[in-house]
Amino acid sequence: MKHQKDNLQFNPQIQIMKVSYEGIIEETDSNFFNWAKSTSIFDAHPFFEMLREFERNKDTDKTELNFPCIHLEDSNTERICDVSFILEKKEITCILFDYTSKYKDLNQIAQQKNESILLAKELELKNKYLLEKEEFKNSFIANINHEIRTPLTSILGFVEVLEKTKLTFEQEELARIIKRESYHLNALIDDMVDISKIESGTLKIIEERFDFQNFIDGFNESYSKVAKEKGLIFETNVESNIQEFLIGDRTRVYQILNNLLTNAFKYTEEGKITFSVTKNLQRTNKLTLNFKIEDTGIGILEENIPHLFERFTRFNGYKQISGTGLGLAVVKNLVDLLNGEIKVTSMPEKGSVFNVKLPFKFEITKAAPQKKKKKYTLPENKGKFRVLIVEDKEVNQYLVMKILISNGNFYVDVAINGEEAIKYIEKRKYDIIIMDLMMSPIDGYQATHMIRNNYGDDYIAKVPIIGFSAKGSDNEREKCLRAGMDDFIKKPFGREDLIYKITKHIAKKAAE
Ligand code: ADP
Repeated sequence: MKHQKDNLQFNPQIQIMKVSYEGIIEETDSNFFNWAKSTSIFDAHPFFEMLREFERNKDTDKTELNFPCIHLEDSNTERICDVSFILEKKEITCILFDYTSKYKDLNQIAQQKNESILLAKELELKNKYLLEKEEFKNSFIANINHEIRTPLTSILGFVEVLEKTKLTFEQEELARIIKRESYHLNALIDDMVDISKIESGTLKIIEERFDFQNFIDGFNESYSKVAKEKGLIFETNVESNIQEFLIGDRTRVYQILNNLLTNAFKYTEEGKITFSVTKNLQRTNKLTLNFKIEDTGIGILEENIPHLFERFTRFNGYKQISGTGLGLAVVKNLVDLLNGEIKVTSMPEKGSVFNVKLPFKFEITKAAPQKKKKKYTLPENKGKFRVLIVEDKEVNQYLVMKILISNGNFYVDVAINGEEAIKYIEKRKYDIIIMDLMMSPIDGYQATHMIRNNYGDDYIAKVPIIGFSAKGSDNEREKCLRAGMDDFIKKPFGREDLIYKITKHIAKKAAE
């Protein structure tokens, strides 16, 4: 029989019954169900109710009906059977093939298969959800970055203006705290944006050729001051055989070392911070440098070291020292991005050593002359210079105005968008324009385009324009230059930077 052939390996037990068309059991063995002769099959199990529907077979040929995987049970026995009914003229032969173990096995396999399909589906959904979450997080950070930086620009700028006024000792102290905390917030946003950029793969390495000694001198200069303030010794040792000019992502290397040095000073109350640089490996035009930042500070417990580079990790007991727990996460991400390595050894109460290996390239050609920040002065005997500020936010207008007016060399006009700026420059001659980028109805790029292209008058068409934006993206500056602007200032800006750039472009124009 079909069932037996297909499933021999299971050796099913069989029970055979003869049942009348009225449902009375006429004959049966009791191989597994002990159903009595002359009783109703309908009482044995509801499955057999279907026999009521069968019409008596009037043909000589037998009709066979098969039902697989029927769960039958009575008070003593439970079986999963394939059931065959053979309809004959007088009665129905009913054969039960017990495949309980086969179905149980199959059920298990099917169950496992279903579970693995479900798991894969679940993982796929989870992945999709994570990607969406990641996208949301990144765009959220980009937006919040812009939203926070705008008021922060005002806070920092106004504190600088405030510091220039006559203040009592207490007010001076408060202004200093506001400034310090605002810079701290600014640094936190920088770290958050960097982490989200690294994670979303949008942070690109930008290699440039830079003066290595000059780069180290920068650290020397700023951290010698910190050391003096904290009463610490700061020592820098740079191996003399390192090339004068290196090629690498100067900004990111600076960020890595600056974070480590800041921590070394932050977590050391007495003793010494040593910053050493040695050449590790050199091949044709490539080399690896080993930067070592060693402190005699509070140190890190051994069990905490594996978690050091995780985001928002700050170890108990050190919480009174301000920080975000993001610095080392940024460091680790940047080191990985630059194909470098970072290692830490530390002893509580003794100090810590951070070792960073980073690859660089160098040119075999002769070194180019050093590029120093050129000094500019405003042309003399020209009286005050007229500046047009194009900015839609009142606080920023006021801030730039205050800085320029308190400098004493400038007259200032304010236009609230590109459209108004155009009206102003048609009426008056300006020595320079400070142009915000995001305004409506005419934005900074459009206004610059109109100024540069719509006027025959050279004084208007060639007026120096400095773009001005809280958007810190790497190509923002380039976009401004491409739009025809002469320079770019990122908000929050320092007073010095603003005055330097204005002076530079007025001086350059006068020298033409
Ligand atoms: P933050 O300094 O803002 O808290 P970091 O990510 O830079 O965040 O550092 C994470 C934690 O690692 C710090 O809170 C501190 O507990 C510990 N740490 C980092 N550098 C040092 C160091 N040089 N000495 C001792 N502990 C350190």
